[in-house]
Amino acid sequence: MIPVETTAQPSPPPNFYGLSRRQLADHLATHGQPTFRAQQLFSWVYQKHQRHPGAMTDLPLSFRGHVAEVCDLRLPPASAVLSTPDQSTHKFVLSLAGGARVECVSMRTERRLTFCLSSQVGCALGCAFCATGLMGLSRNLSAGEIVAQVMAMGDFHRWQDERFNIVFMGMGEPLANYDAVMTAIRILHDERGLNMGARRITVSTSGLVPHIRKLADEGMQLGLALSLHATTDELRDRLVPVNKRWPLRELLAAAREYGERSGRRVTLEYTLLAGVNDRPEDADRLAEIARALPSKINLIPYNPVPGLEWKRPERRAVEAFAHRLLPIAPAVTVRRTLGGEIWAACGQLGGLS
Ligand code: SAH
Ligand code: SF4
Repeated sequence: MIPVETTAQPSPPPNFYGLSRRQLADHLATHGQPTFRAQQLFSWVYQKHQRHPGAMTDLPLSFRGHVAEVCDLRLPPASAVLSTPDQSTHKFVLSLAGGARVECVSMRTERRLTFCLSSQVGCALGCAFCATGLMGLSRNLSAGEIVAQVMAMGDFHRWQDERFNIVFMGMGEPLANYDAVMTAIRILHDERGLNMGARRITVSTSGLVPHIRKLADEGMQLGLALSLHATTDELRDRLVPVNKRWPLRELLAAAREYGERSGRRVTLEYTLLAGVNDRPEDADRLAEIARALPSKINLIPYNPVPGLEWKRPERRAVEAFAHRLLPIAPAVTVRRTLGGEIWAACGQLGGLS
């Protein structure tokens, strides 16, 4: 046998955006750096929005030249940024390692700026009206890839709005990628980082009951949105197939528990499909469900997905549905469809890219 000489390849540095401050400190310690170095880096990147080590003036000169070898501060490049004509909504297509692409959306209304994040490339849950569901699941996103979406959109908006909100309503089911999503949330929440209050972060789920309970155990005041869409198991089994695993009774019990333990009203998301779930009796049952737990209702007129036959109800039908709910339900809003022109509205992500 001829001995083969191997030279150990240095492993690539970890993605900065996937590390909590504590994990970063531990990692930096292996490179001989003191604990407070992690705080300095967090402050530069998340508070001063400076990613060039050369400009991080309180780091020792000797370390500035080596930061890139210790952790990877690069963001995934945007292969496309699409904007609505009124510039209120921007859709970002980010190119990830390994060739995957993921979409995230920023939406500005008069009241606030909201970043809509993806948690997976595709989704395995196959809801009947969702473009992402049609793709199937390619892979989970890492915590770093989730935090990087916020950084990319914040950079684009030049960090002008200090108080933006985050919703996990992009591609994927966030609770099916629980650990990475929670790690990302903790990084975003860190007071020495972006310092995002839990109340400004909402996780939307199609109804993974054990994970809803786990989220309640976190003891954070995160917003929870539940993709209800139907008021009977028969219809919900068709629209949101995960209902076969955790039917309405179990789901609503978990939602009530979440609302009570977090002290926050659960948002019941209800996508209106013409002739399917928009009848007066649907509204009556929806109001009854909403009254049984701390909640508010968010109606989403269906956003068309190429290849799917569902129809958005006429504007008048949406109004009639909302008006039937109003006197009996706790709170009702109709989601303005932002970004329809660029296929950036709810349920349209992944549809065209
Ligand atoms: N996977 C999570 C979050 C992403 S989808 C979830 O299902 O909750 C965000 C919201 O848009 C969900 O309520 C989803 O059911 C809804 N949605 C999906 N496709 C839609 C479409 N074509 N039109 C309107 N809403 C849609
Ligand atoms: Fe997945 Fe949510 Fe789309 Fe359902 S609605 S397929 S859970 S992304």
